[in-house]
Amino acid sequence: MRMPSTRFQSGETVMGRWPGSNLYYEVKVLNYDNKSRLYTVIYKDGTELELKESDITSLTMFKQGSTRSRSRSRSRSPARTRRSSRSPARTSRRSSSRTADLQREKLKEVLEVRLTPVAIPHENNSNSKHQKKEENEKKEENDTATKVNEKTEAESENQTRGRYNLRRRKEQGDGKPVEEETKEETLVQAKPPAPVKTTDLEFGGRVGVFFLMLLLPVAVLALLILCGQKDASLQDFPLQIPPLQSLWDWQVFGIVLLWLLFQAVLALLPIGKVIEGMPLKNGKTLKYRINGFYALVLTAVVVGAAVYQEVDLSYIHAHFLQFYTSALVIVTLLSIYLFVCSRWATESNLAPGGNSGYIIYDFFMGRELNPRIKSFDIKFFCEMRPGLIGWVLINFAMLLAEMKHQNLENPSPAMLLVNGFQLLWVVDGIWHEEKLLTMMDIVYDGFGFMLTFGDLAFVPFTFTCQAYYLVNHPNDLSVFWITTLIAMNGVGYYIFRKANSQKFVFRKNPSDPAVSHLKAIPTATGKSLIVSGLWGFVRHPNYLGDIIMGLAWSLPCGFNHVIPYFYLIYLITLLVHRNARDERQCRKKYGSAWEEYCKAVPYRIFPGIY
Ligand code: NDP
Repeated sequence: MRMPSTRFQSGETVMGRWPGSNLYYEVKVLNYDNKSRLYTVIYKDGTELELKESDITSLTMFKQGSTRSRSRSRSRSPARTRRSSRSPARTSRRSSSRTADLQREKLKEVLEVRLTPVAIPHENNSNSKHQKKEENEKKEENDTATKVNEKTEAESENQTRGRYNLRRRKEQGDGKPVEEETKEETLVQAKPPAPVKTTDLEFGGRVGVFFLMLLLPVAVLALLILCGQKDASLQDFPLQIPPLQSLWDWQVFGIVLLWLLFQAVLALLPIGKVIEGMPLKNGKTLKYRINGFYALVLTAVVVGAAVYQEVDLSYIHAHFLQFYTSALVIVTLLSIYLFVCSRWATESNLAPGGNSGYIIYDFFMGRELNPRIKSFDIKFFCEMRPGLIGWVLINFAMLLAEMKHQNLENPSPAMLLVNGFQLLWVVDGIWHEEKLLTMMDIVYDGFGFMLTFGDLAFVPFTFTCQAYYLVNHPNDLSVFWITTLIAMNGVGYYIFRKANSQKFVFRKNPSDPAVSHLKAIPTATGKSLIVSGLWGFVRHPNYLGDIIMGLAWSLPCGFNHVIPYFYLIYLITLLVHRNARDERQCRKKYGSAWEEYCKAVPYRIFPGIY
C-alpha cells in the first residue's frame, strides 16, 4: 500500500530513533496516521512505536550521515571505533546467507543496533495482531541479523535462544489489544516525562536518615578525637572532649574556603578534554571537563612551593578538629543551597532516589541529579577534587607533623607506606576521572547532604585516620612486613584496577579485543553481564580489590588499637551496603538475566564467604 503524501512508505525499511535517545535502529514502517502525523514502525525485536517523521531517516541518508543529528549519533556510536574488531562470539555463530552478510557489512559501517532480548518464560502473544509478523521477523532476524554489537547480540542468540525472546514492549501478555495499548503509549510519549517519585526509601527512611545526619558528623568527630589522643584505646571512653570554642577557628574556616576556591579555579581552567556524560532521562548529555590530573599536579607544585617557602603544613595537624568543623559547616550550607536550588530543577534532572516528597529524606539523599552553576558541575567537582586531593595533602601534612613531633629526620616506613598506598589510589582515581561519569554517584544519586558530607568531610577526614594516628603512635615495621604490605596492596590494586577497567571497556565496546574473550550473559536491555574472568570470580571483584587495599593501608598502624582500622571497617560496611543497593538495581534492570548471573557467580564480594 502506498502512502502518497508521506515520505516513507509502508513496508519500507528505515532507521528510527529510539525515543529519548540518539540511537537509531533499523525499523520497518507499518503505516502512517494522517491525523496524528505519526508513523507506526516495528523494530527488529517486535517493539512497535509511533514516531514523528523527524525521528525517521532512510537507510541511505543515515549512511551518508548528512543531517546534524545523525552525524552526532554516529560520532558517538561505539560501533565506529570497533569496525575492525571481531568478537570471537561471531566466529562461532551460524553462517548466514550472503545477503545477510552484505547487509551486515553495510550496516556495520554506520550504526549500532541493539536488540532487546528478554527472558519471557511463556510469552503468550495470542492477542497480538502482529503475531505472525513477529514470527516472520524473528525468522528473518535469524537469517539477516544486522547486529553490529556482535558480542552481545550474537551471544544473546547463541546462548539464549529458547530461554530468551525478543520483547515486544506493548505485548507482554496482559491481554490488551494492541491498538488500545498503542494509543496509551502515544499519549504517554506526547506528555512530558512523569514526575519522579521515590517510593523505595533507603537507610531506614525519614527516621533513619535523620539519625544518620545527626550521628555521622558526631561519629567522625569522635574518631578524630580518639585518633589524636595519646591513648587511642576505645576503652578510653568517655572521650576527652575539647572545649567547644576550641573546635572553631575563623582562620581555618577561611583556609578551607580558599582551598575550595582554588580547586574550583583549577577545575575551570580550559585545559583537558571535554567529554559527554551518560544520557539523562531526556536523552540529552552533559559535558564535563576532565582536568583532574592537571589540578593534582598544579596543587602539588603550589604545595611544594609553599613548603619550600617554609610554610608549616603541620598546622593542619595542629588544627585538625577545626578543619573538620569548618568542612562540616560548609557541607551543611552547601546542602541547604542545593536543596533550595533543586526547586527549580527540571523534571529530567531530578534524582530517582531523592524525590520522596519528605523534606528530611530528600535533603539527605539529594533531589537534583546534576546541580550546576552554568557549566560548573558541583557534584562532579566535589566528588573528586577538594576531598580527594585534600586527602593527599592532609596525609602529607601528617607526614611532616610526624617528623616534627617525633624528631625524625625522615618519615617512618609506616607513614611512607600509608602515604604511598593512598597516593596511588587517589592518583589512579583522578587519572581515570572520566570513569566517574558512569558511577552510581553521578548517574543515579542526587547531590544532597549524603554525598556532600561524604565528599567534603568524610573522605578527607576519615580516610586520613591512619596517617593522623601514626603521628602520635609510631609503629616500627620489619622488612618482612614492609614487603608483605607492598605485595598486598599490589594484589588489591591489580584486582581493583583490572575489574574496573574490564567493565568500563566492556560497557563501551564489548567487541574490544581487550575484553572480547570474556563470556557474557545477555540481558533485556541490550547490555550483557560479564560472567568470566574477575567478574566470574565474584560479582563485585572491584570491591574485593578495594578491601584488600584497605587492609594494606591499616596494617602499617600495628595492632595496638582498633581505631586505625576504622577505614577498613567502614569500607567493608559501605561496600557490602553498596553491593546490596547495586544488586537491587541490577535485579530490577536485568530481571532473570541477573538471577542467572547470580547462579553462575554465587559470591558477591568475598569468594567462598559472601
Ligand atoms: P561498580 O563499578 O561495580 O558498578 C556497578 C555496576 O556495574 C552495575 O550497576 C552494573 O551497571 C555493572 N555491572 C555489574 N555487574 C556486571 C557484570 N558482571 N558485567 C558488566 N557490568 C556489570 O560500582 P561502583 O560504582 O559502586 O564502584 C566503582 C568503584 O569505586 C569500585 O571499584 C569501588 O570499589 C570504588 N568505590 C570505592 C569507595 C571507597 O570509599 N573506597 C566508595 C565507592 C566506590 P550497568 O550494567 O548498568 O553498567
